[in-house]
Amino acid sequence: MNLYEGQMYWDKTVVDPLRIEKLGTGTETQVLIIGGGITGNLCAHVLAKTGLKVLVAEKGHVGRGSSLANTGLLQYRSDKMLIDFMDDIGPEPAYLFYRMCLEAMDQLTDLNRGLTAPTDYSLRDTIYFASSMEDTDPLRREYRCLKRYGFPVELLEREELKQRYRIDKPAALRTWHDAEVNPYRMIQALVRRNLELGVRYYENTELDLDNIHSNTILTRDGHPVGFDYLILTTGYTRLYETIKDRVIPRRTYAFCSEPVGGAPWPDNVMIWETSRPYLYLRTTADSRIIAGGLDEDRPDPETNPDQIRAKARLIADQVEDLFPYLKVKLAYAWNGLFCGSTDGLPFIGPDPNQSNILYLLGYEGNGMCYSMAGAAILTDYIQGRPNPYQSIVRLDR
Ligand SMILES: Cc1cc2nc3c(=O)[nH]c(=O)nc-3n(C[C@H](O)[C@H](O)[C@H](O)COP(=O)(O)OP(=O)(O)OC[C@H]3O[C@@H](n4cnc5c(N)ncnc54)[C@H](O)[C@@H]3O)c2cc1C
Repeated sequence: MNLYEGQMYWDKTVVDPLRIEKLGTGTETQVLIIGGGITGNLCAHVLAKTGLKVLVAEKGHVGRGSSLANTGLLQYRSDKMLIDFMDDIGPEPAYLFYRMCLEAMDQLTDLNRGLTAPTDYSLRDTIYFASSMEDTDPLRREYRCLKRYGFPVELLEREELKQRYRIDKPAALRTWHDAEVNPYRMIQALVRRNLELGVRYYENTELDLDNIHSNTILTRDGHPVGFDYLILTTGYTRLYETIKDRVIPRRTYAFCSEPVGGAPWPDNVMIWETSRPYLYLRTTADSRIIAGGLDEDRPDPETNPDQIRAKARLIADQVEDLFPYLKVKLAYAWNGLFCGSTDGLPFIGPDPNQSNILYLLGYEGNGMCYSMAGAAILTDYIQGRPNPYQSIVRLDR
């Protein structure tokens, strides 16, 4: 099954994507990362900066997994509200989880400042609006909770929301420390930087995940790769036995518009809402609108181009309902597999049965933010340092 179908946008923004050789012999490394998406590259970066020897193996080309379907919104708030995490996992872990995400956002911002190739990374405020009057009460409770714990948040009532952002909804949260990015450009920039840091990369190099031994794994071509630690950053390509029952696979749609010429709404804020499935939207560096939503409870991406386009048009209509002065012309439309988790948390940490096999699976809507946080957690783990967030996201929680 493919991870996505349709016409993608981000790869059209990179004229000279990297091409890297295949692994043609046996080799060894301290840390072997399997998967060259945004997660594997972020993790390789953080590990390499500590001086560890890192090798990234990608079965296709870097950045062409789900990371290419990714709409590039980076936010510290997750799909599940802080008040709901507090009810489900307790106040202390819930607060720590949100703090982990806020810190990860600042780490992503720092990291992007250090990259020389363009990533279109821009700090952006986020507007999270109440889709209906009934949703204003939980939204206000979320506001008070975030505020009490010191998170960057402001509550906007209807009039202010309308005046400042031209959004006619009952109320909204404004948050900051959030950002937008072109994920494919970011991966290209990260790989270039990681190569400078000494990370070894191999494309067209598939590792046989059914034959992982204590310190060795074989490529599909039969070459052994020795490792001290193995990190699985394989995204949604494989649902591992140890978490399979706690994963919720869905498919989700997105589109990218023709350029609209200038800012389509004030401050180019990122926007989403309380209803589920939710509409979300952002702008791009070349004045396009990217929006997504209409999640469906089935994992296989829609393959019919007319159906994909029709769903994208429905999302564009929702954008026009929100901003009636806009006329949105579709340029690219796609859909893809997207995995959530039953408790709203990602899966990050060692395999419960083999302590040198580590998972970094940023399932749920904030995948990239979780990947950044996970890179720090796993680096601490490998270096034997305690990490305040490890127990919250561990696999056997
Ligand atoms: C439509 C859509 C919109 C999204 N929008 C956002 C968003 O706005 N913000 C956000 O944070 N997240 C978003 N996500 C989620 C996001 O895509 C993921 O969190 C993130 O891109 C996943 O990156 P990854 O590196 O973990 O996975 P991938 O990009 O899929 O990378 C995994 C890689 O592992 C490789 N691989 C797998 N098995 C092997 C093997 N055996 N050997 C070698 N290589 C292997 C694959 O080829 C692949 O390249 C979105 C997802 C979709 C579908």
